[in-house]
Amino acid sequence: MRTRNVTEIRCKSILNKSKMPFSDYTLNVYQGCAFACSYCYVPAMRARRGQIDEKPWGDWVQVKLNAAEVLREQLLHIDPGAKIAIGTATDSWQPLEKRYAIARNCLEQIAWHSNPISLLTRSPLLLRDIDVLQDISDVKIGVSLPTFDDGTRRIFEPNAPAIRGRLNLIEALVNAGFHVSLFWCPILYGVNDNKEAIHDYVRRAADLGVTRLIYDTLGYRDFLWNAHLELLNSFQQYSPQSSPSLSNTAIADEINYWADHYSVAVPKKDVGTLALSISV
Ligand code: SF4
Repeated sequence: MRTRNVTEIRCKSILNKSKMPFSDYTLNVYQGCAFACSYCYVPAMRARRGQIDEKPWGDWVQVKLNAAEVLREQLLHIDPGAKIAIGTATDSWQPLEKRYAIARNCLEQIAWHSNPISLLTRSPLLLRDIDVLQDISDVKIGVSLPTFDDGTRRIFEPNAPAIRGRLNLIEALVNAGFHVSLFWCPILYGVNDNKEAIHDYVRRAADLGVTRLIYDTLGYRDFLWNAHLELLNSFQQYSPQSSPSLSNTAIADEINYWADHYSVAVPKKDVGTLALSISV
């Protein structure tokens, strides 16, 4: 896939202070994201902040060319225990990363320090960087997987990597001994927010051997709801026999039940506020 409207920029800072409970800093080596998932919260956040983008989300990416150089300097001045979350407002392993390797270069800088990192991606390109990840003392990896079904994926995130590649990525990371969390974010309203689908998802998560399952329902509904309903029409043509949706409470109960059954760790606290405190 060729990313349109690529701009190379130079940044002054690459670590942004974060209020998220799991990180002290966020690190985003790109702005914009070619994967353009239909439920992405980042354009909604940008709109709320008054950041008006001329081109639709997914059509533009800014590449922070000097990110690794700036990071090298910033790492000298932060607490060695400060946690860094990579990829909170973009996917750092989107197609351009193959050419630029900026996320990889940043990992190489982090490997010189003891800062714990977490990263989130849906891209099998991360496989390329397993060697560098093995040099980092404390790393937690999240892989996004809103569905196990590639037909559903093609409806809701047609530009994102196929499910098979993500499963291969998870398998390789687990086999290499990494702490891998599966991100079921979002659970898709009208698609897999029903009893059977939840059971199926948690069972498959257990089979993958991931350390944790993290889930959330669709956020920023005021911004994303209409688009979701349009895609839901396509989904209903693709899969006409869908079961009734559960309430958020019933979803949580169902997930916790099957997580206990299959011994999958699920953080009990609500992650629905995750996107609200992210620094772009
Ligand atoms: S990969 Fe993440 S940042 Fe990129 S469009 Fe999808 S949800 Fe948004």
